[in-house]
Amino acid sequence: MREIKELKKVEKYVNQCMKCGFCSFFCPVYQEEREETSVARGKNYLAKLVLKGEQEFTDELGEIIGKCLLCKRCVANCPAKAQIDRVVVAARAEMVKNKGLGFIKNFAFRKVMNNRKAFGKYVKLARAFQWLLPKTEGKIRHLPDFLKALGQGRNIPELADTFLRDQVKEVNKPQDGKEPKMRVGFFMGCATDFIYPDLGLKIIDFLTKHGIEVIVPQGQNCCGAAIYFSGDFETGRQLAAANIKAFDNVDYIVTGCATCSSTLKDYAKYLPDNEEQQKAYEAFAKKVKDLTEFIIDVLKMKPEDFKLKKEFEGKVATWHDPCHLIRYQDIKDQPREILKGLKGLKYVEMPNADLCCGMGGSFSIYHYDITKKIADKKMDGIKATNADIVVTACPGCMINLIDNVLRNKMPQKVYHLLELVE
Ligand code: SF4
Ligand code: SF4
Repeated sequence: MREIKELKKVEKYVNQCMKCGFCSFFCPVYQEEREETSVARGKNYLAKLVLKGEQEFTDELGEIIGKCLLCKRCVANCPAKAQIDRVVVAARAEMVKNKGLGFIKNFAFRKVMNNRKAFGKYVKLARAFQWLLPKTEGKIRHLPDFLKALGQGRNIPELADTFLRDQVKEVNKPQDGKEPKMRVGFFMGCATDFIYPDLGLKIIDFLTKHGIEVIVPQGQNCCGAAIYFSGDFETGRQLAAANIKAFDNVDYIVTGCATCSSTLKDYAKYLPDNEEQQKAYEAFAKKVKDLTEFIIDVLKMKPEDFKLKKEFEGKVATWHDPCHLIRYQDIKDQPREILKGLKGLKYVEMPNADLCCGMGGSFSIYHYDITKKIADKKMDGIKATNADIVVTACPGCMINLIDNVLRNKMPQKVYHLLELVE
């Protein structure tokens, strides 16, 4: 007997869709594919058929619900306010329960990413072999043609020599030596841990300079975005439990990764299977703050409180809104306030700053051809600003933006917002 418990939980959103098709104007995937199955309305219709028992969990259904960036542009513009992202994720969870995860995801999610030590060990192993890939620019390595089947020619980031977890202390006291004004848990996120450890150190330095005690629990794990958005709720709940336990003794949990902050906040939306979990996830979510939100809304810093790093003086900067910041967390003004406060930097808003960069987590692995087309539109927006630098607050977006800037032979450099702040 097939199980559709997760889809049942979101049935009200399925029924909210009035088939107006408004979402088709906003869906980046539909804009490239022009197929009804690419857009929210089509995916929602199939979910309805599953609920009615008229659609089986076929491979074709798996492909259709997999072809979604979870960018939430459809949700933000739906007149019925149907939360189609939740329908898509629930449908993926049903696929996993009824058809399994498949060998690769099963190994990656349940044997590697679910175990912080094992994850670190496997990434270290990958680092030992990355010298085989020729280096192109800075920290980016270009996958040569013989590896195209794996990397599809993309520029991939270099893994750090020393991961953040191996450089950072568990307890970091305020730098002024005074009593801390609050205790903040720093959630690293995998990309910051393995690829951008300097960014993590910079964030800890920034927070301790502002009178905060920063705890970096070694028991923290991956946020689970790639895992539970792929429908593996079982592993997602294990990661949620590990992270809740690791951060149980702090006032706030802060991260410099927009995907991590939204994923940690959204355990309560996607994952609960009983009332106890619901309460635990909700209590946890209240403590989670994206770094940009924390700086402006909690620390109450004003534009004049920020100083630009010397190397960026005279530069023109533009901002890319990560989907997980602007639509998942409604954070739009805070990063712009910080950027506009940096004297000596000229800020230019890009057209369609909120357009998805095309990454969509594992979407870009399975549909790199569509990712490139969507990213080209983002690149057009960047080109229109004549900016020297593109700034964002999600290491995942940074990886994809760097790949596409290089692919388009554009001169822009990509930075995390905090890298600009002295
Ligand atoms: S915009 Fe909303 S209501 Fe209209 S078709 Fe799309 S999902 Fe359905
Ligand atoms: S979440 Fe984004 S990609 Fe998925 S259906 Fe909605 S608009 Fe399209």
